[in-house]
Formats: sequence, C-alpha cells, structure tokens
Amino acid sequence: MTRRYDVVVVGSANADLVVGVERRPAAGETVLGSDLAVHPGGKGGNQAVAAARLGSTVALVGRVGDDAHGRFLLDAQRAAGVDTRAVRVGGAPTGVALIVVGPRGDNSIVVSPGANALLSAQDVRASRDLLSAARVVSLQLEIPLETVAEAVAVVAPGTRVMLNASPSAPLPAPVLAACDPLVLNEHEALEMLGGATEDTPEAWCTALLERGPRSVVVTLGARGAVAADPSGVVRVPGIPVVAVDTTGAGDAFTGALASRLARGDTLAQAVGFAVRVGAAAVTRAGAQDSFPTAEQVPAAEG
Ligand code: ATP
Repeated sequence: MTRRYDVVVVGSANADLVVGVERRPAAGETVLGSDLAVHPGGKGGNQAVAAARLGSTVALVGRVGDDAHGRFLLDAQRAAGVDTRAVRVGGAPTGVALIVVGPRGDNSIVVSPGANALLSAQDVRASRDLLSAARVVSLQLEIPLETVAEAVAVVAPGTRVMLNASPSAPLPAPVLAACDPLVLNEHEALEMLGGATEDTPEAWCTALLERGPRSVVVTLGARGAVAADPSGVVRVPGIPVVAVDTTGAGDAFTGALASRLARGDTLAQAVGFAVRVGAAAVTRAGAQDSFPTAEQVPAAEG
C-alpha cells in the first residue's frame, strides 16, 4: 500500500496563553502580571510540528474553533508543513491553556478543551483514508478516549500505532494492546503502575509491558529514556545540556520518535534519536518554537 504520510497525528490543538506573575493570586484576589504571550500548543499540535520539522510528511486530525486562536493554530501547523485538511473548524471555541508562570518558572495551568472535546469517533471515521495512508498514527489523551479507541480500531494493517498516554487515564484493553509503543513520562508511568515503587525504570518498563502494549517507552527528563519490547529493555542516557525551558520536551521527544519509527528505525534507534531531540528542545524557549530541525539535533556520540 502507498503510504502518503509518515505520521498522522489524531489529537489536540490549544492556544497557550502565558502570563508571568511575582506571586499567584489567592481566591478573590487580583494581581498584575507580565505582558500576555500566546503560543501554539496542545499535545497533538506540538507532536505534529515536532515530526514535520524533522522532515516527516505529517497530517493532523483535530478540531479548532472558528475564531482567531483557531486560525493562529492552523497557521502554525501549516508553517511547519503539516497537512491540516482534516482539522475541522467550528462548534466550540478553540482549546486554550491558561498558564501562569511564577518567579521560579513554576507553572499553574488551566486547560479549557473547547473544540478538542468535540473531536469525535465520527471525525476519525471520516478521516479513515488518511489514517490508512500513514506509516505511524500518533495519539495522545487530550481528546475523548472513545475517539482514541476509534482511531485504534480503524487503522489499516501495517500501520504502527503510538499512544502518548498523557494526561493519565485508565486505558481499555484494545487500546493498550495496539500501542507500539505506549509512551509515558516518569509520573505517568508510576501512576499507571499504581504509585511509587523502589524499582528501576527498567523494571517499570517490564511491568508496563505485562499490561498488554507491544512496546513501552518511559521518558526520564534529564536522565534520558528507557524502552522495552519483547526483545528486551534499553536505557538511553540523557544528553547534558543547559536547560532553558523544558516546556514541550515530551512532545518534541514523542514527535521525533514517531518520525523515526515511520522511517523504519528500530525502537532503540528511534529512542536514541528522540532523546537528542528532547535535549535540543530544552535549550530553547517555548514549545513548538523550540523544536529542532534535523540539522539542529546534536550528533550521537561515538
Ligand atoms: P514536558 O511535560 O516538560 O513536556 P515530559 O515530562 O513529558 O516533558 P520529560 O521526561 O521531562 O518529558 O522529557 C522528555 C525528553 O526530553 C527526555 O527523555 C529527554 O530526552 C529530554 N529532556 C527533558 N529535560 C531535559 C534536560 N533537563 N536535559 C536534557 N534532556 C532533557
């Protein structure tokens, strides 16, 4: 079958509205903050841009509102080369993340899902041809779970399904069974395992694999990532960098993973590349703005 797209992302797009404050307001209080900054965001949109910037052919299946934020998000996707013909417009305001950044860079975030909550199983069925034309279908959990389940159900044989299970939610068995890989950060991994454990990240991966996914990747921030599939467990150490802004590091990582798996890398090779992309992303401010092109990714050692 001809695969027109390396990666098709089915997921969220949000406008990130960011204001810095000296201290957070208590209930009923008003404080003055910095100038407003508006950035394109949402895990789906971010991961689509991350993969496109690395040279993959990418399409996004999503929903935005018929409003200025929606047009802003579509422009950002198109500027990165993402095909947005399967992004439906209207029905609710564009999803928004209200982000208050404290003096130590500590974030408080309120997400209004808006149009993302309307992305339906029907929308996925309408994009079935697109999903069938993908080497990799990449999913996250900022859209309804039944929409994610439908995407898993309609993918063509031979299409690889990735799920970044963020934010955490219990997953139905058929969704878990399709994940190749299931991608989690450390907190999400521990939550899925049912709380703190003394075990190593390698042991978490093995335990998660027993829950049913075909493969598992757990990101470990500055410490890199660990991956497991039935052939074994691989640890990829982090790349030492001066971290300027870690926003979107996980999305840079996951977009890079999708990009490389679509090209036929092994899981270990793809995770090795994604760790370097995540490191590059934290050296620059912003989320989508910080995602590197292939030339900007630090070279592998050795
Ligand atoms: P976020 O929510 O900030 O987007 P996350 O919690 O989903 O991130 P992390 O595990 O923090 O994901 O980071 C993803 C990847 O980014 C890591 O596997 C690593 O490759 C890279 N990374 C993150 N933080 C750092 C850092 N301080 N130094 C080097 N690499 C980093």
